[in-house]
Amino acid sequence: MYWADKIANEIIDSKQHLPYWVDDMKTPSGRVHIGSVRAVVTHDLIRRALFDLGKKVTFTYVLEDHDPMDGLPIYVDQEKYRQEMGKPLFMIPSPEPGYKSYGRRWGEEYIEIFNKIGVHPKIIWGSELYMSGKMNNAVQLCLDKASEIRKIYKKFYKKERPKDWYPFSPRCGKCNKISTTTVTAWDGEKVTYECKIDGLEWTKGCGNKGKASPFSSNNYFAGKLPWKVEWPCKWNVIGVTIEGAGKDHMSAGSSHDFAKLMCKNVLNYPVPYAFSHEFFLVGGRKMSSSKGFGSSALEVSEIIPPYLVRFMISRVKFSKQIDFDPFGMTIPNLFDEYDKCAGEYWDNKGTVNARIFEVSQVSSKQPKMHFLPRFRDIANYSQLPNIKLEKRFEEIKGSKLTDIEIKDLYDRLTYVFIWLSKYAPDEYKYQISIKSVDDLNLSEIQWRFLNDLGNIWQKVSEPENLQSEIFRLIKKIDINTKDAFKALYTVVLDKDHGPRAGWLLKKFPKKDIIGRLTSNQK
Ligand SMILES: [Zn+2]
Repeated sequence: MYWADKIANEIIDSKQHLPYWVDDMKTPSGRVHIGSVRAVVTHDLIRRALFDLGKKVTFTYVLEDHDPMDGLPIYVDQEKYRQEMGKPLFMIPSPEPGYKSYGRRWGEEYIEIFNKIGVHPKIIWGSELYMSGKMNNAVQLCLDKASEIRKIYKKFYKKERPKDWYPFSPRCGKCNKISTTTVTAWDGEKVTYECKIDGLEWTKGCGNKGKASPFSSNNYFAGKLPWKVEWPCKWNVIGVTIEGAGKDHMSAGSSHDFAKLMCKNVLNYPVPYAFSHEFFLVGGRKMSSSKGFGSSALEVSEIIPPYLVRFMISRVKFSKQIDFDPFGMTIPNLFDEYDKCAGEYWDNKGTVNARIFEVSQVSSKQPKMHFLPRFRDIANYSQLPNIKLEKRFEEIKGSKLTDIEIKDLYDRLTYVFIWLSKYAPDEYKYQISIKSVDDLNLSEIQWRFLNDLGNIWQKVSEPENLQSEIFRLIKKIDINTKDAFKALYTVVLDKDHGPRAGWLLKKFPKKDIIGRLTSNQK
């Protein structure tokens, strides 16, 4: 059974996670990392599996734009943003015009990328969750039960929190920072706090001391709970019953264990169904979303189509690592696997592959059975000057291409060009030479070799066989091996070296190759 279907069945059988409410959350502090895309797609696949079993499911995504800026991505103005460190993201100006805030700038990029790959959760902005007043009961409860929460911290970190420590970060009334403030007292209505000047290494407070209400309201953001305390509070406030997280949050003694104790000892709220999803590596590396380059979702989504991003995530069980390395044959192989799953789906095989194809669709409408032009063939033919792509694929298919097939062909061609220009191995990038054979400086014996080779290629069609035929021919006409191969690459590629001869010739249409090899035949 497909892994997401298995999880959906497990959730239903447990009867413990009703009503079904799937949620995922993330701080929009910079460009979205491909790992966060894996997280949201994994949640969406579980939602989809429950939905396909006839269940009513709600799906939300919290963009925590009330979190403070605690790092500077390399692609923003360092000078300008250094002074914003410690402030909530929704109160920091956007690096580009057109967005309400820094948090919105990146949050909206998240949404755009999710939507593009067919994920449409209801978005909850953290700042609005607080300012709607919905978090106030949780804030009050956590402040009232501060001693209980101190005990949980002690259990996890083996360090006593002082009696005047409270689980709340007020927004400083003077400098707006929330990272620098500490509460020292709570009287049931107001917190007493200090904005510490030198409490943190990465940003300074202003020294302000005062009393303030911890309760947010319309257009007034009072401050936030610490993240570990806040996570389970959000489950409770939103009504989340299903939420997983990356394995770094889920291992023993981590924030999820902390949240579980919060649910039991403070909130009296059932722990949502949890699962721990693995990392998404790019070329073997897990890069943080603040550094971003090379592993941002935007970059990945620019080199393969949206359905392939979804496919790449769907086909790997959530608990297994994905390592995507765009160099070499990864992308053509991914297209081949997608086509194979499509075939099984259209043949009604009822296999896991068929289900993977089904859930990889970006639109809710399943595509009808049609011919899929193979990616690596498009890559090959698109490099040959005298081949008409549509015509060539009509020959392969055996009939005229339909509109959707033509659309697929040109859609794939876009990604072929990207692959060829940046990621394809060298042997895939050769083009057949268009230089006139009269202009090639080849000796008589070299031409004899090429002419005979043309006649052999007429009869032989397997690259392996051609390889041994070439060596037999070299021996027979007594040509220097190096001269022979040089002649071959010169006439075919206009280069003096190239990939293995049999493989190279197979790549191009036989008549074109033979035409060039025998063009100087006496
Ligand atoms: Zn301050």
